[in-house]
Amino acid sequence: MSTAATPRTAPVYALVGNPNCGKSTLFNALTGLKQKVGNYPGVTVERKVGTAYTQHGQPLTLIDLPGAYSLAARSPDEAVTRDVLLGRRADTPMPDRIVCIADATNLERNLYLVHQILDLGRPVVLVLNMMDLAAQAGLQIRAARLEHELGIPVIPCEAANNKGLIELKLALSRHDLPLPRHAWDVPAALAPAVSELQASLIAADAKAPLVARAEALLLLTDPDPLRVTGSTPLSANTTRILESWKTRWTADATDWSGTLVSARYDAIGKLVAQIVVQPEGAEDGHAARASRSTLELSDKIDAVATHPVWGWVIFAAIMATMFFSIFTLAGIPMGWIEALMAAVSGLVDHVIPQGAFHSLVIDGAIAGVEGVIIFLPQILILFLFIGFLESTGYMARAAFIMDRVMSKVGLNGKSFIPLLSSYACAIPGVMAARTIEEPKDRLVTILVAPFMSCSARLPVYLLLIAALVSANEVPVGTQVGLMLLMYALGTGGAFFFAWLFKKTLLRGAPPLMIMELPPYRLPRFRDVLIQMWERGFIFVKRAGTVILALSIVLWFLANYPKPPEGAAAAPNQPIVEAVSPGPDAPRAEPAAAPSAVTAEDPLAYSLAGRAGRLLEPLIAPLGFDWRIGIGLIQSFAAREVFNSSMSVIFSVQESDDEAATRAQLRDAIRAAERPDGSKLFTPLVCLNLMIFYVFAMQCISTLAVVKRETGGWKWALFQLVYMTGTAWLVCFVVYQAGRALGF
Ligand code: GDP
Repeated sequence: MSTAATPRTAPVYALVGNPNCGKSTLFNALTGLKQKVGNYPGVTVERKVGTAYTQHGQPLTLIDLPGAYSLAARSPDEAVTRDVLLGRRADTPMPDRIVCIADATNLERNLYLVHQILDLGRPVVLVLNMMDLAAQAGLQIRAARLEHELGIPVIPCEAANNKGLIELKLALSRHDLPLPRHAWDVPAALAPAVSELQASLIAADAKAPLVARAEALLLLTDPDPLRVTGSTPLSANTTRILESWKTRWTADATDWSGTLVSARYDAIGKLVAQIVVQPEGAEDGHAARASRSTLELSDKIDAVATHPVWGWVIFAAIMATMFFSIFTLAGIPMGWIEALMAAVSGLVDHVIPQGAFHSLVIDGAIAGVEGVIIFLPQILILFLFIGFLESTGYMARAAFIMDRVMSKVGLNGKSFIPLLSSYACAIPGVMAARTIEEPKDRLVTILVAPFMSCSARLPVYLLLIAALVSANEVPVGTQVGLMLLMYALGTGGAFFFAWLFKKTLLRGAPPLMIMELPPYRLPRFRDVLIQMWERGFIFVKRAGTVILALSIVLWFLANYPKPPEGAAAAPNQPIVEAVSPGPDAPRAEPAAAPSAVTAEDPLAYSLAGRAGRLLEPLIAPLGFDWRIGIGLIQSFAAREVFNSSMSVIFSVQESDDEAATRAQLRDAIRAAERPDGSKLFTPLVCLNLMIFYVFAMQCISTLAVVKRETGGWKWALFQLVYMTGTAWLVCFVVYQAGRALGF
């Protein structure tokens, strides 16, 4: 599917390299803000395309591919890189040229991917990045010699200091980029198999000859053919050939994959020996170990940062700072967003005449989107922290420290970042799980991530805590204590179910974390900011699409059908009775003060109200009534919508004074009564409701993301059922036990 035949105005380059080689820094340095960020359809892997301009103003298109160690992909990210380079993705034409970026301080390992890419026989430009660090480590790298050996342009660079970019752009703008020289010999034992597979891949799988050869080599590199084929299965003929060779090799005990991998490393080793001059006194030939000064400093920091005691202290301090920032600093911009949305509502209020459409726009669309956008500051702060921790190299240490904890429940340290992100919002959390290689571990992480108490639950907890305590000012100790209890319950739930799933449904090999601890580096503020902005943008795009649509649907549910004319004027005849008459239907609703009736009835009459009543028998054993049921249903848009549901149901007049509105709402729910005159929101019910919010899966946006990440509704529905089922069961036990104990 090469598009080499189509004439282009700007040549298209794919940027590839190992994680941490400085690829993003280089991409940002080349393209500045001329970037388009999106997603590869079907997977949540960022797709970044940018334009760079040569000294003569000629545009160059650059596609930044996810970092990868090998074309035999171990994670969804690596799979995208592999598929784009092999021309398998319909959304991204096979790039006609490739820029490989290698970390000059660790050439031996970085050249492995480069070597695989050279097999593709397409024009390649090789960037040797981090030359400053290589020089500091006393390494001398003969770029000209490497250029001669490989037959391609080799450009030394320091992406972080904008050095070497002009030379690089010059090379990229060349019309006559040479093809790589023949780089290595396939071991004799495997050569016939490579030829046979290549022929079949050309004939039966319709691959171009060089792509076919590269794929044949990859199939013989990795024992698991899925890492090579991904979602493009092999033809029956090719599979048969592959199987028959493997059977033959098994019979004569040939380690085919090992042979091929070591042959490649041998070729690379010989190359590196010619081009890297080790510093005086470095007797081992390993370039990685030679970058002494950086590594020594990193080792010194690590002696503390991964220390069994100090490591935890530092980790806890960083986490505490992060949460403190998320929950306090974010308050200021959150206020701005509220004000902005209020201004937009005000404007719409003027422009659109009162009526159904007015309400749809203000109460449906704007309120719904606000409910999610309001968390943007917290999410940006989270991304800022994660970006810093990643680019300094600390995140790998945090995962390493947490690995000890994670392995107790059968996961490895890489699940830590997704779970951590989920404290802000499960959506970025679920998306972050894509760096986990093992599919089962990835799925388990996605399944349990929404147990981590996200910020949308906070307003609900705060309201219920205020209602639970009888004093007007909740003592700080009680509030913090109850909050911590909820966080602990959610975290405990996540760990328990991860353990359970790994023991039963998704049993897998014992967790093994292979993770590189990159040397510590000073991050560049600008790059961290760009990354934060891009990730935030993806989040906002979701709010603008899926969440907008859902908010409108929920608005319809809460507003239609309308009660018949005059119904609201007859408060003694609650419409609910007409909807669902039954022996336990409320009498004249003593809880409803006269002012509450008109506001309450249209909602009760609506589909949401009816659903709340339908739900009542199911939630009554938890101490909840149909009005709480409406709140639970509306929470599917975003959990904190519970508070506005309660405001509508108990007719709290919104005013400009937020604190006063909050106090009113608290008093209204404290005063709410059941038909028999007893209090609805007893302390036990408040506590139980909080527990319900900890465990239940009540967020359609998260479900939509889970569906996309897992490739279907199956796991999303499973998650909905098991989480909500757990919530019900726990609340049932707590309520019944609480009642039995006399609360
Ligand atoms: P990626 O994972 O390949 O995208 O790597 P990044 O671009 O995020 O870079 C990883 C770290 O290396 C960041 O802290 C960069 O600032 C730093 N970095 C990138 N290029 C250079 C370089 O040429 N010299 C030095 N000293 N640091 C660099």
